Amino acid sequence: MDIHTYAGLALLAALPLGLALIGYGTIVKNRWGINLRAVSCPDCGTEIGRVRAPKSGNQAMWGGHTCPSCGCEMDKWGRPIARPV
Ligand SMILES: [Zn+2]
Repeated sequence: MDIHTYAGLALLAALPLGLALIGYGTIVKNRWGINLRAVSCPDCGTEIGRVRAPKSGNQAMWGGHTCPSCGCEMDKWGRPIARPV
């Protein structure tokens, strides 16, 4: 086999691996998972809309929300994130 065949095989192997990672992440609620449910603020209970405007690169990359009423940050699962001071 030449190098292109190996590259193709690696790609074929990576695809189900990525899907498994997302599926697993959705079950255990880590950053790889996909949350399709609306979350509400862990602090004040305000429901966060599905449409989000990422406030930071981390939010854009991994998901997450900032509460519009109290300004606290949470991950995409609605769990509070300790903001670095
Ligand atoms: Zn809030």
